[in-house]
Amino acid sequence: MTAKSKANLAGLSLANLRTLFVDAGEKPFRAEQVMKWIHQRGVVDLDVMTDISKSLREKLKQSTEISFPKLLQNFTADDGCHKWIVEVASGSCVEMVYIPEAGRGTLCISSQAGCSLDCSFCATGKQGFNSNLTVAEIVGQLWWANQKLGGFDSSGNRVVTNVVMMGMGEPLLNFDNVMEAVSIMMEDCAYGLSKRKVTISTSGVVPAIDRLKDFTDASLAVSLHAPNDELRSQIMPINNKYPISELLRSVQGYMDSLADKRVPVIEYTMIKGVNDHRAHARELATLLREFPCKINIIPFNPFSLSDYRRPSTSSIANFRQILQAAGFTVTVRATRGEDIGAACGQLVGDVQDQTRRSRRHKRLAAAKRSEKVFTGADNLAIAADRVVR
Ligand code: SAH
Ligand code: SF4
Repeated sequence: MTAKSKANLAGLSLANLRTLFVDAGEKPFRAEQVMKWIHQRGVVDLDVMTDISKSLREKLKQSTEISFPKLLQNFTADDGCHKWIVEVASGSCVEMVYIPEAGRGTLCISSQAGCSLDCSFCATGKQGFNSNLTVAEIVGQLWWANQKLGGFDSSGNRVVTNVVMMGMGEPLLNFDNVMEAVSIMMEDCAYGLSKRKVTISTSGVVPAIDRLKDFTDASLAVSLHAPNDELRSQIMPINNKYPISELLRSVQGYMDSLADKRVPVIEYTMIKGVNDHRAHARELATLLREFPCKINIIPFNPFSLSDYRRPSTSSIANFRQILQAAGFTVTVRATRGEDIGAACGQLVGDVQDQTRRSRRHKRLAAAKRSEKVFTGADNLAIAADRVVR
């Protein structure tokens, strides 16, 4: 068996690890032991796993490996956020971001290198699609964050309390790997995060949302960003395939399947002059009148190749007020880690992929650089430039 075809124990759910041990003629409880070593104690060397017999360890070495993606770089923002660049097997780089807040720490992780869906306001989309991350590459982002941040603070509280799949890529287009990674995150003998604290964010891949209930009960966030199909299709091409009515129907189906009472978060990235008018807020309130949800407004985060702008603080406040007056719970996402290009939609990895859209993106970026149009706010390009090797 070649090293490449060895099963990676770091990317197996408890159920799959049990199967692996049972198939090898071992007791299934070995799966819990190995999971604890890898995910709770951060151990990747089988020889350190002393509660497993030497002969079993030797056997495992023949057919398995324990490997996580490589951590290339760490950026620390003035506000305490971290952004790490992770190299994945395809050779691309992805980014993950840690956002500390009072009483919680949120890790925003990537599911794909690049993204095929090309939303007009998203830097990741500008790269095109490069690769799906493996299970170990997805869960490895949480593993690395725990390694780097120490896992627990001085009072014994977890440092990463929440995981959101709001980094690079569309999680539901890497369905199987994301489902397996999410199950490891929620496993008691791994990271033990509750279903409420792991959130999958989707741009609306309806057939995948329809299947979701058979695989997970994680929380769901939905990128809506427009109150009608015409506008949504202009900024999110996926809406041409799965329009708003189908999307809301399928999200409702998932929420109804959950054993506890939970509502989805509707994400609304506000872009100046595009979807930020008061009339849009009123239309959104009407659209969601009978759809239980919370609304999270994300002020647009600028990046080098986008001419979009962020609306003023007062127009964001007005928009929010209209929705609140209509009875919605509305939060406005604070922009964090902006000085290191870590804010929503600014994540680009290393932009090394070879898709046509990515090459165009790089050409345009180079052209813009030579025109000296970059400013300090063009942090995503600067961060990306730092890691292009
Ligand atoms: N593909 C998934 C998850 C990754 S994007 C999705 O689209 O939901 C995570 C969130 O960041 C989404 O709500 C997305 O619309 C938002 N986003 C993307 N680009 C942004 C930008 N430039 N400014 C603000 N939010 C952005
Ligand atoms: Fe992809 Fe999400 Fe970016 Fe759209 S917003 S291009 S779905 S990562």
